[in-house]
Amino acid sequence: MRDAASRGPRVIDGDKVEYVAIKAAYATRLIAWGLGACQVDGFLYDVNFTRTIDSYEGLCYASVSWLQALSYRLRLQERLPLLSFLEPPFMVLRERISEHTYVFRSSMYAKVNAGLITTPEGCILIDTLPYPEETQEIASFVRRRLRSEVKYIILTHSHADHVYGAYLFPDADVIGHLYSRKLLLTQTRPALVKARQTHPSLADVRLRLPAILMEKEAAVRLGGATLMMRHAPGHAPDVISVYYKEEKVLFASDAMMSIPYFIYGDINDLRRTLRELAEVSPLEDMVQGHGDVLLRGEVKTTIDIHLAYLDKVEAHVNEVIAKGLGKEALLSLDVEECGISRIALEGLANRLHQENLISLYTRKVKRLKQARAKQRQAAA
Ligand SMILES: [Zn+2]
Repeated sequence: MRDAASRGPRVIDGDKVEYVAIKAAYATRLIAWGLGACQVDGFLYDVNFTRTIDSYEGLCYASVSWLQALSYRLRLQERLPLLSFLEPPFMVLRERISEHTYVFRSSMYAKVNAGLITTPEGCILIDTLPYPEETQEIASFVRRRLRSEVKYIILTHSHADHVYGAYLFPDADVIGHLYSRKLLLTQTRPALVKARQTHPSLADVRLRLPAILMEKEAAVRLGGATLMMRHAPGHAPDVISVYYKEEKVLFASDAMMSIPYFIYGDINDLRRTLRELAEVSPLEDMVQGHGDVLLRGEVKTTIDIHLAYLDKVEAHVNEVIAKGLGKEALLSLDVEECGISRIALEGLANRLHQENLISLYTRKVKRLKQARAKQRQAAA
């Protein structure tokens, strides 16, 4: 992981002024909103505040999330309905990581990244952001600032936080893995119906299914940009990675996030995928599915940390099963003992780690039981 001081968006040429202006406007909005909300006391105590404050940006994110939580609570409890006009500010972080590559990062949900490749013939969007108002920022950036349009959307997998915004680009062709189409229909769609009940802003979201499908490898070419897509299962069965050849940028999707997470996929697939990602060369930047963009020098070390994490988790699960211990022993392995920061992904890391342990344990025990049943059948 990069340290806080060296992190922060890289800014190229003309973006600098706009970036500073955005930041100033954002800070003003944040302070104004904060002042309004902080006049209300009595609710400030029990808002869960587990965010990282490691930089000015971290502070902004933390405050926004905290204030959002506060606003949500206030509205939920209908204690002060008048405050609902004070919509929480949100900001999609836009980072220009190379000449024609932008990364947009959600500040509303687990630092999800979407990538944008710009070409003279139009843009290619790699994933969208979880909430429509966030993806809308990408749409207006393409339209107003670039005076361009999105020609293709590559969905790196079927998970809600990456695909919900695709409906905002009705003219773009959607590309995805063969399995994504099926998973979008059988899992993402029913989940969306549920999510709408708690998130009214999702009311207009319509899932777009990929019409251009790939299995192992495929490539898209547009306006001089070559995007090479490759099946990268492990986090989920349908994940694909995207390598932008001309600018040496690898979009790793959720095969790489601040903590390896495989409950929808398979730990061995994830190991294989991570080893393959480590071989991609030449490489300047790696865009993770969630979290900071990794620079060339950080990629191999981070992948090694992830592989070591998977080994440690699996060894622990094996030991718990061999000793016939219960769930408590399973959860005794701390995330930091496995080399992953507890506060990664806005404090979600520990929960994801525990889910990894439980899912691996459950699968192994099930497989063991099936094997024993087979043995018994064979003996009988
Ligand atoms: Zn995912």
